[in-house]
Amino acid sequence: MADAESFTRRVLAELAPHTPPLGCCRRALVEGMRLVSDRASTVSTTRMVAARAAMSSLHAERIPAHVLRTPAARRTRYVVSGADFDALGAGSARSCCTRSRVRGAFLAAGTVARPGREPHLEIATASEEASRRIAEDLATLDVRAVARRRRGGWLVSVRSSHAVGAALSSIGVQGGRLEFEAGRVVRDVRSHVNRRLNAETANLHRTAQAGVRQMAAVTALALDPGRWEALPPALREAAQLRRRHPHDDLAALARRAGCSRSAMAGRLRRLEGAASAERGARVESPGTR
Ligand SMILES: [Zn+2]
Repeated sequence: MADAESFTRRVLAELAPHTPPLGCCRRALVEGMRLVSDRASTVSTTRMVAARAAMSSLHAERIPAHVLRTPAARRTRYVVSGADFDALGAGSARSCCTRSRVRGAFLAAGTVARPGREPHLEIATASEEASRRIAEDLATLDVRAVARRRRGGWLVSVRSSHAVGAALSSIGVQGGRLEFEAGRVVRDVRSHVNRRLNAETANLHRTAQAGVRQMAAVTALALDPGRWEALPPALREAAQLRRRHPHDDLAALARRAGCSRSAMAGRLRRLEGAASAERGARVESPGTR
């Protein structure tokens, strides 16, 4: 998700500086980071900001540790070393810790698509078990997520715009959530406008085709004085209006005739019928319509 990078970076910048105020949540944050690490024994991430956030939580829990920068084939990794994770322990089962664990996982390995794009938030993990655990955590936060396999690894994937918005709020990204929602509104409005334009174009097309057919009918009737004279007055008036105002739509013609749109539509339909009727045949005309 290359296009996602700048928005992901802003979300990380919003998340990273906040060390959870509760000890249980600090433990859960580090737990979430370990869950998505390629080495379960420690925190290993391609993101310096994530390693720093892990260090802040560890230090707040008085667990000594340091970060090793290890050049890797594709991207440099930052590995938290020397920490006694057993002494640190895990987070609680409370929702404060569930949020914090997902937040840690996102900090270390999450990405989110730019607002206005197809909604998508995902967290890469090293195992099916880790993906399922995070998906379950998200489910308890009312966010629908699925664990999926991906080339050589696993990930947790959140796909609907409702779920992505809820996930951002759950892990504490309020600014990012607002930006995401603004993008969603723009996206919705844009697709609505496109749908409307398409519908209106189709309508215009239909109106134009009907106008051409009606003009042909009126011309044919006017060329045959017998049939023209036989038209009921309301139809003759409609024919004259159509001839004088070839580009009027139905509503405009109806206004000129002082009748309803449906009445005008009926008259024009009957004019077409009269023109295509056999020469000399009588035009049926109930009332003045
Ligand atoms: Zn907690």
